[in-house]
Amino acid sequence: MKGKKILVCVAHPDDEVFCSGTILKLTDEGNDVFLVVGTQGEKGSHDPALSPLAIAEMRRKEMDLAAERLGIREVIQLGYQDGELQYANDLKETLFHLVRRIRPDLVLTFDPWKRYEIHSDHRTIGFSMIEAAHLGANCWYYRQQIAGDVVCHRSQELYLFNCDEPNYYVDITNVFERKCLATSAHRSQFGQAVDETRLRQIINQPHPDVQMTIEPFHKMWRSDLYL
Ligand SMILES: [Zn+2]
Repeated sequence: MKGKKILVCVAHPDDEVFCSGTILKLTDEGNDVFLVVGTQGEKGSHDPALSPLAIAEMRRKEMDLAAERLGIREVIQLGYQDGELQYANDLKETLFHLVRRIRPDLVLTFDPWKRYEIHSDHRTIGFSMIEAAHLGANCWYYRQQIAGDVVCHRSQELYLFNCDEPNYYVDITNVFERKCLATSAHRSQFGQAVDETRLRQIINQPHPDVQMTIEPFHKMWRSDLYL
C-alpha cells in the first residue's frame, strides 16, 4: 500500500506506542500519516516538583521527536486538558473537521469498547473518532463546516488498537528496533532506556500460530459500519 492518507487519533502524547510499528511500516511504504493528539498529557508525572505546564511542554517536545522518528507528516495537538476529555460536540466537531479536511483512507484509534479500560480519555477519543471517521460523510452533521477544501468524507477502513478482541494483526518484527527508538523519545514516560519486555507486553496479545512481534487491532468491517 502506498500513497494513502492515514489518520491516527490518540488521547495522550505517547499513546501512539500502541501502533507505532504499524505507523513505521506505513510511512516506510510511502503513505502520509497524520497524528491527532487530544490532550497535552500534563498530568503524566508522579513528580510533585514538576508543574503541569512544564510536563506539557516536555511531552510536546517528546511527541515531536517520536513523530520525526516515525516519519509522521504532521502532529495535530488539540490541547485539551489531560484526564478531562469530554464526549461532547466540541471534540466531535473538531474531529469531523479534521476528517473532512485531511480525507484519510484509513483511521486508527482506541477501541472504546475495551473491557476494563480505566482511562476515560482513551474511551472518549475512541468513541468520538469512530463517529467522525464514519459519519463525516453525512453532510447534515456540522453542516457549517462544509466549504472549500472541507468536504463530506468517510474513511474506508477503521482499525482499533488497545483492543481485547483482535481480528487483524500487523507483523512488526522488522521494525521493532525502530519502534523502540521512537518510544525512547518519550523519556518522561518510558525512562532513559526502553524496557523491550514491557513494550512487548503493552502491544502484544496472544496470536494462535506465530512467534513474531505483532500489533493487534480490531478491524471494523463494512458490515459494522453500515446500518
Ligand atoms: Zn493514554
